[in-house]
Amino acid sequence: MKESTYGMVYDPDHMIPVEIVTEDNRVISITETNREDHTRIILPGFVNAHTHIGDCGIGIEPFGTVKELVAPPDGLKHKMYREVSIHERMEYSRKAVEGMLSEGITHFIDFREEGVDGTVMLRSILSGIEGIEGRIMSVPSLQNFDIKEVNKLISVSQGIAVSGLAEWDLDVLSTLRKFTKNAKKKFTIHFSEDKREDVEKLIEIAPDYIVHGTFCTETDLARIHEHGIKIVVCPRANLFFGNVAPLKVMLTLGIKPLLGTDNCFINRPSIFAEMELSYKLFHHTGIDARDILAMATFNAYNAMGIDHLEYPDLDINKTFITFRMSERDAKHPEYAIVNFGTSDRIEDIFINGLKKNRLSTTYH
Ligand SMILES: [Zn+2]
Repeated sequence: MKESTYGMVYDPDHMIPVEIVTEDNRVISITETNREDHTRIILPGFVNAHTHIGDCGIGIEPFGTVKELVAPPDGLKHKMYREVSIHERMEYSRKAVEGMLSEGITHFIDFREEGVDGTVMLRSILSGIEGIEGRIMSVPSLQNFDIKEVNKLISVSQGIAVSGLAEWDLDVLSTLRKFTKNAKKKFTIHFSEDKREDVEKLIEIAPDYIVHGTFCTETDLARIHEHGIKIVVCPRANLFFGNVAPLKVMLTLGIKPLLGTDNCFINRPSIFAEMELSYKLFHHTGIDARDILAMATFNAYNAMGIDHLEYPDLDINKTFITFRMSERDAKHPEYAIVNFGTSDRIEDIFINGLKKNRLSTTYH
């Protein structure tokens, strides 16, 4: 059966009215039209650029510093990994991934701890859920370069992630990074999360991107930007520890940060929650809803090479979502999405041109 829907393709500079025709849930055409329906916004899908999906099953209210809660080898998270079996935690992780998809997150990038077993666990979850692309950055099980393990990790993931500079010998880290890059995989690291770290050491390691940069000075950020290293910021994760990232400085320097939700036992991996908090936290600095929306969409597509629906090439085989607007909200779509977005406003999710049945799932 053929169906026709009208809506506006979102582009930061202008909105393009289109008609989408589907037949048996498959998109058969997307064409520009004169009929403007501002009550439906067509977006290529959200990107949650930093998660730790595997720690969802840790059901404990955490108290302590970043080091005490999440640093290897004895942070609370790692203790809990040893106490609760992977299989027990898998169910919560699966719900978290389904929850992300239900709010229009079509891509996420995960730091998966626990070595090969941890990566295999997430791959197994992903193989059972259609419609969301999870890119796995595998974290080695120990803070050393075990070539056998790293070889296995990069054969089953998109790259290597390490927890932080502090836990590693710099030469070993440098070798690990070179090995990963030679295998044409990504390399990434948490940086300056709870205190300022040495930016020159970071540049020596040359990761593809860092997560946090919370305690970076303007000079640090300028050096990071100069070296083409991307930044993922996680405002809720920072706020949990009483910290706020220098987002305004990043934007002023021309950095185009990505947005992530970080540890799942502290923040549910909701991009709407992350966008809303980010908006409220940084609004007074002059950051607007458009900047925040870009962090969860276009900045991520560009930095991570994520294929997306794009004007004027309205390819019918692309992934996109439709977001419901009221007439009132249509005048400021970014504000409505960023500050008032919820999963029930996601009307449809099209994966590679095929309409998916909506999941009605909760994170917990
Ligand atoms: Zn993290």
